[in-house]
Amino acid sequence: MQITFAASESTPLAKTGGLADVVGALPPELVKLGHQVTVYLPFYARIRRLIEGEPNYAVRSITVPFRSYNRFAGVVDGGKRDGVQYFFVDCPELFDRKELYGAAGVDYADNAERFALFCRAVIEASKLLGVPNVFHVHDWQAALIPVYLRTTYLDDPVLRSAATVLTIHNAAYQGKFPPVTTEQLLFPWEIFTMDQVEQFDRFNFLKGGVVFSDLLTTVSRKYAEEIQTAEFGELLEGVLLKRAADLHGILNGVDYTQWNPAVDGHLAAHYTPENLEGKRICRADLLHAFGLEKVADTTPVIGIVSRLATQKGFGIVAKIVEELADRDLAVVALGTGDPYYENLFRGWAFRHPATVAVQIRYDDALAHKIEAGADMFLMPSLYEPCGLNQMYSLRYGTVPIVRATGGLDDTIEEWDAVKGTGTGFKFEGYDPEALLIEIDRALEAFRDRRGWTRLMRNGMARDYGWSGPAKEYVRVYEEAVQRKT
Ligand code: ADP
Repeated sequence: MQITFAASESTPLAKTGGLADVVGALPPELVKLGHQVTVYLPFYARIRRLIEGEPNYAVRSITVPFRSYNRFAGVVDGGKRDGVQYFFVDCPELFDRKELYGAAGVDYADNAERFALFCRAVIEASKLLGVPNVFHVHDWQAALIPVYLRTTYLDDPVLRSAATVLTIHNAAYQGKFPPVTTEQLLFPWEIFTMDQVEQFDRFNFLKGGVVFSDLLTTVSRKYAEEIQTAEFGELLEGVLLKRAADLHGILNGVDYTQWNPAVDGHLAAHYTPENLEGKRICRADLLHAFGLEKVADTTPVIGIVSRLATQKGFGIVAKIVEELADRDLAVVALGTGDPYYENLFRGWAFRHPATVAVQIRYDDALAHKIEAGADMFLMPSLYEPCGLNQMYSLRYGTVPIVRATGGLDDTIEEWDAVKGTGTGFKFEGYDPEALLIEIDRALEAFRDRRGWTRLMRNGMARDYGWSGPAKEYVRVYEEAVQRKT
């Protein structure tokens, strides 16, 4: 099968979140399964910088018409990596900027135009460079591809049989713009209705993708259910519910070449499920890195690595920080984000310097040290489409304490001390009291060393690599293609 990815991010070229990890990791897995995969990305300044010398253009100029002018996009041949062909949509006035989506917390004012151009250029480039069996488009930035294919390009004989699959990585980001966008992007006003692209008098890119794609996926089974409800659907629940039968939840995979305590280059020592000795060394190294050397061996260390955002559940953590400080535990936290939560952590550490420490920055090496050196990992998210850190934690024998939402619910199984089954601790309601009860449960379990070792090993044995998810995506592509024939 030929599959074309269109996305606004991919590791290692341009990343702001989990979307980039999926677009970086899934295509090579599909190639391993015998498929041909092409990835289109915008030619951002940071990608341009990676290319030595002049870019090699596969297509010099594609005309993308807007209401009162044309823009012109080139297609840069980014070459092949791991068998995957990369193309970059070049339009310097739209993409040759420092950031991907906006600066100083404000979105670029022309984002509708930027990503509409990207979508149209991908379609036009495909006509010249190869129309795939499936366009796999990601998030709102690429969601207009299915809309164009079912409107502007409906009668194009070479595109007619191409199927579309849209993956929603986070339903909270939808790309909402004023109604006049319809006209500026040369769409017929007929699609500006509440059962197509309109939502509360806004032109909504993601909604268009949901309505016009052949099949939909999101990044966990639980999140697929949740976004069909008012609580998590971000006002898309209506259209998502209508398409419930076409919506599949497929977990993101973990890149175990990067996240494996047996070989991880960031660690002070290596360890395996059979020989956990190295984890004690990692713990000492971690406590040293955070200046918490005095924490006793019998005191559990809770790790946090996160964007500091309300989504990640810090609203309920904020309510119990003093209760936690009274308990026999230590906390090491790494994150950046909302100044309110940054200050919450700073204040917490300031009041309890012997047991709570925080570093406010982005630091990949330290994230690895926390995964390895902590005893428990806290992730009480308000919502979590998939989540990666809880899966990393499992592999590192660091027991996750999570809220039962999205991918956290799908990947963590509650520990049962009697049967010796389960991989972590999981609570339901978004409520500080429920979180505290769950943490207390974990602290009690920690005191039983044999049981705890069993719990660690249960998690370490789980396999959340990409090979399973890649096969699930292929099944979705096959179904989408079948519907077209
Ligand atoms: P999200 O994509 O919603 O932020 P995920 O759990 O899916 O959450 O992925 C977050 C990724 O970013 C993980 O790889 C995590 O280790 C990393 N990360 C988040 N904050 C930091 C930080 N301050 N320093 C290093 N890595 C971080």
